[in-house]
Amino acid sequence: MKNGVCPKCKSYDILVFESTNDEREKKLADCEKIGLLEKIYTKRFVCCNCGYTERYFEDRDLEKLKKKYKKVRG
Ligand SMILES: [Zn+2]
Repeated sequence: MKNGVCPKCKSYDILVFESTNDEREKKLADCEKIGLLEKIYTKRFVCCNCGYTERYFEDRDLEKLKKKYKKVRG
């Protein structure tokens, strides 16, 4: 979906909601609590044709997630 195509309906009508530093926006944004005070936020992609949504953490935050959460055993 990062490439601008919906994986479900193949539409090119994709919006991106950037992860934000704006405090008001942050209250509405998808986030994960990492520490007592620290939260990390996702960038979201929304298909305007079917409503399908994907969200991604920034690369720099992935290490923090790895430290906090357990890996799925494959
Ligand atoms: Zn779609």
